[in-house]
Amino acid sequence: MPSEFELIARYFTRPTAHTLLGAGDDGAIVCPSPGMALVTSTDMLVAGTHFMPGADPEALGWKTLAVNLSDLAAMGAQPRWALLAASLPEADESWIAAFASGFFACAAAFNVDVIGGDTTRGPLNFCVNIIGEVPVVDDRSQALLRSGAQPGDEIWVSGAPGRAALGLAHLQGRIQLNEPARSDCLAALHRPQPRVALGIALRGLANAAIDISDGLLADLGHILERSKVCATLQLERMPGMADNANAALAQDCLLAGGDDYELVFTAPASRHATIAAFADSLNLALTCIGHIAEGASGELVLLDAEGKAVPINRRGFDHFA
Ligand code: ADP
Ligand code: MG
Repeated sequence: MPSEFELIARYFTRPTAHTLLGAGDDGAIVCPSPGMALVTSTDMLVAGTHFMPGADPEALGWKTLAVNLSDLAAMGAQPRWALLAASLPEADESWIAAFASGFFACAAAFNVDVIGGDTTRGPLNFCVNIIGEVPVVDDRSQALLRSGAQPGDEIWVSGAPGRAALGLAHLQGRIQLNEPARSDCLAALHRPQPRVALGIALRGLANAAIDISDGLLADLGHILERSKVCATLQLERMPGMADNANAALAQDCLLAGGDDYELVFTAPASRHATIAAFADSLNLALTCIGHIAEGASGELVLLDAEGKAVPINRRGFDHFA
């Protein structure tokens, strides 16, 4: 049975590329790039809540880092460093090796140095602290905030939200997905692609942004509350769902399904063409789904093709609802 320190050395310590002192001491040392401010965030993945205890460890390792990178993407930040706190019920080396391989694959894909963490015995649970950078211009960071949406802004969404929730519905037997939708939705669920390049491209263009972790309407709702504005969305403009066999479920997943890690953002209509052009350069669908309206209530109106308001049953996932 390997010791805690053997586990750390064997599975969680890799060479770093842009770090003064990585894992191994009481703290890590990093130096921000000139002209950059640090952006940091933390996200936890708990067995039974965020993933099934029998989840594939390699995919889980990827997702553990990817969901944290997504928060930095939503800020328009360049991810640079990560720390991993792991609580493990037992030292199952093949499981840990697979988890670490997924985690470090994601770190390598996004050029993130893993600079430390904590390893303890306990209920299966992972917590990452991610650190990234955004430029500072005239004493102001270029980060994208939830609070910047303006009346008249267009509302955009990346990719096709709802696929992860549809994939989960498939695994739970609530829907039967056929290929290629099945692979597509399961990939969205297990191997989310944080929209880092999009977030960086939107610096100075978007007025507000958030990543979709709890549901499109719920997360857009956070922008509305923080920006003290309202929104009108057009259902027929929404990105098409992969499977229409169960239209009601597909629509619920699209509007309120969590775990997609797409970005929803707002930008002045004058920037429409510039943003639309990113879809080609980033090879990522970007869809304008509505606009921001005057009014401090945070109200969200969803219109069907005839312009009639569609009732909203739920906005998304809430751990304590
Ligand atoms: P301390 O007792 O001072 O907190 P630890 O024994 O917890 O130190 O950790 C030793 C070193 O290994 C530290 O540099 C820590 O950052 C690193 N480390 C511990 N767990 C992990 C992990 N899961 N992933 C990456 N680095 C880790
Ligand atoms: Mg420690």
